[in-house]
Amino acid sequence: MVELRDLIVVGAGPAGSHLAQEASEQGLDVLMLERSEEIGRPLACSGHVSPDIWGFVDSRESLLQNSIREARFHVEGSSYRFYQEEPVSYVMDRVGFDKRKAEMAQESGAELLMGEEVVSVDERDDCVEVSVASGETYSSKVLAGCDGASSKVRSEAGLEEPSRFYQGLLCFVDVQDSSDNVDVHLNVPEFFGWRIPRGENIEYGVAVPPGESPSEWLDKVLDRHGVERSETFNTCAGGIPVDPPDSVTTDRIFLVGDAAAQTKPFTGGGILYGMRCAETASRYIDPENPDPAGYEKEWRDELGREIGLGKLIERFYLLPGFLQKPVLRLFSGSIGVHMDRPSSLFSRAQLRAMTSSGIKKIRSRFRS
Ligand SMILES: Cc1cc2nc3c(=O)[nH]c(=O)nc-3n(C[C@H](O)[C@H](O)[C@H](O)COP(=O)(O)OP(=O)(O)OC[C@H]3O[C@@H](n4cnc5c(N)ncnc54)[C@H](O)[C@@H]3O)c2cc1C
Repeated sequence: MVELRDLIVVGAGPAGSHLAQEASEQGLDVLMLERSEEIGRPLACSGHVSPDIWGFVDSRESLLQNSIREARFHVEGSSYRFYQEEPVSYVMDRVGFDKRKAEMAQESGAELLMGEEVVSVDERDDCVEVSVASGETYSSKVLAGCDGASSKVRSEAGLEEPSRFYQGLLCFVDVQDSSDNVDVHLNVPEFFGWRIPRGENIEYGVAVPPGESPSEWLDKVLDRHGVERSETFNTCAGGIPVDPPDSVTTDRIFLVGDAAAQTKPFTGGGILYGMRCAETASRYIDPENPDPAGYEKEWRDELGREIGLGKLIERFYLLPGFLQKPVLRLFSGSIGVHMDRPSSLFSRAQLRAMTSSGIKKIRSRFRS
């Protein structure tokens, strides 16, 4: 007879591990199923995150690779600097982060089974049964699909796909660089390319829409930085879902993280949004009385406005360079924004920063 668990979490990425941790702390009997043989691998992420990350993990010193205070945006030969005194973001060891989060989930009481790929899902009136590739079957009162961009749980549950996917591709160059600035290339079609100094090495990457060749665009970004493809290593790729569908739940199935496209539409970043939604989901996963409608309402109330504003910024990437340039010029200089909250672009802190950098720009123009 198959043991009936309170909650099965499919996928031990940031969203899955955080949900398992929260649910276990609330006393639920949680089983995590992860298809990979090693947590965090294969890697397909920059691990470039806002300072909020340190509220979710307890080993900052070992995970921190670099602190970022400045972003340089490049459009058709012009560059615009955005900076602040305090770190605006951090570069972390993403594999190490996933590993520590999975440990934290287990320390809270969740059981983790590795090498278990979920291949089918059968939702019944009182439980959900999942089968894995090895032929084993597991059963729970609630199932959480935290299995990433191309979620098997999503397709098995008959839930709608996110409306857009970008293709991400990144690689590394063996040059030490602890500078505090990232480069963002807006000439890449519809999305962007980047350079991120990671302390021990430098990362270059691109995210482009379907139909474009990420590899060709990555070569162009490398070229702009004078790097040959032969100098790069660990090239890795992944899908980036944006724009969540109208529903990410059934009666007993909850999608969380990339599976639900809970990402920032203007960067594709989903580590923090996914974990915030995991926290929300944990409050509505009562095994005796799951409340998918409550989860849908609360996570959309919390993130809907930021995702909506993020979509506006995403559209900005589609504009021709001659329209992008004046906007970048207007916002450039000292900034007071939070990278997970596009609404902070219109905050008092940002207004203050724009006013003081505007005064500096005028003064330097008069001096020269
Ligand atoms: C190139 C690139 C760069 C990125 N850079 C950033 C960044 O700098 N900052 C940021 O915030 N975000 C970034 N992202 C996005 C970020 O990686 C995702 O938003 C984040 O990983 C989502 O977490 P998750 O837990 O929802 O899913 P994932 O991290 O994808 O975890 C899903 C887990 O489920 C497992 N799994 C999948 N299918 C099954 C199955 N059938 N059965 C069992 N297990 C399964 C997988 O092995 C995996 O461990 C980037 C993405 C890409 C592609």
